[in-house]
Amino acid sequence: MMKAFVVEKFGERPELKDVPTPKPSVGEALVRVKACGIGLTLSWVRLGRMSGSAPRIIGHEIAGVVEQVGEGVTDLAPGDSVAVYFYLTCGKCKYCLTDRETICTNFGGNVGTRIDGGFAEFVKLPAANLFKFSPDKVSYGKASIISDAIATPLHIAKRRAAIHPLDRVMVIGAGGGVGIHMVQMAKLFGAEVFAADVSDEKLALAKKYGASHLINVKKEKAEEAVKRLTSKAGVDIVIDFVSSPSSISSGFKSLAPHGKLVLLGHFHPEDPLHIDDPQDVIRKEISILGSRYATKQEFREAIEMVERGLIEPVVTSVYKFKDTDQALRDVEEGKVAGRAVVEST
Ligand SMILES: [Zn+2]
Repeated sequence: MMKAFVVEKFGERPELKDVPTPKPSVGEALVRVKACGIGLTLSWVRLGRMSGSAPRIIGHEIAGVVEQVGEGVTDLAPGDSVAVYFYLTCGKCKYCLTDRETICTNFGGNVGTRIDGGFAEFVKLPAANLFKFSPDKVSYGKASIISDAIATPLHIAKRRAAIHPLDRVMVIGAGGGVGIHMVQMAKLFGAEVFAADVSDEKLALAKKYGASHLINVKKEKAEEAVKRLTSKAGVDIVIDFVSSPSSISSGFKSLAPHGKLVLLGHFHPEDPLHIDDPQDVIRKEISILGSRYATKQEFREAIEMVERGLIEPVVTSVYKFKDTDQALRDVEEGKVAGRAVVEST
């Protein structure tokens, strides 16, 4: 048996329970969880707004040590330190075969929604989702958040927004768990970064990690701040981790001609995608882009970026395993700037 935080029914809080320790089948490995990151996505998972089923052990930003491998697993061995790619992809469809598996035709859902995740002593996962890292270079706590908080910005910077040096990039939600790494990633790709968020504390963090301009959207509308800061030119790219009707509207109005608006975060199905002046899409040749997670290759690259010190994982709050639900509550209440991590002792 093992300890795990289980969401019995979507909408309920995760509860600490004793559950059977899973056994790895063919092509799988059992991982002893050392750390599991917590972002707002988990709140959506808990409420059942992502695909999947309950009862479920949630948690998808996982780092740990391979404990046991199932039949047919040859590239991993007990003792290996691994981080987890959390999309369950087929590896065979035309998108998987062309390094675009975020849009896998046979998408199987996420670790922690469709299969059990990391708020447990052990997790059983497909070996194809486990990527080795060097614990001498990166702690388990920091390695855990590469999975989402760092790989996701790399996919945006490289693939979707295609950030170039000299681009002006505004990150909406810049002080959050993914946003703070987007700030770093945009800077690494050569951009001048405009950080927008709702608190001075989150903006101070964004400044520390490379933002040149800070916009507190509680005090000034983002589009007005951008006009003031760019002599009315606008920004070339807006990356919107909030994707609410008002943030999308602000982001769109902040764009320079030929600008790109990248949407992700948790677009609510009931929210209309409203553009105040749709003619501007044509007049200014605006691109509106969606982005989701990262490819396995990008995940591999994100690990290397952290190992080489190009990107610093911003773990601001560390909780003990027993305090997992409190950690999730703090994130849900917006109390955490940067990323929170639960570490096993
Ligand atoms: Zn596929």
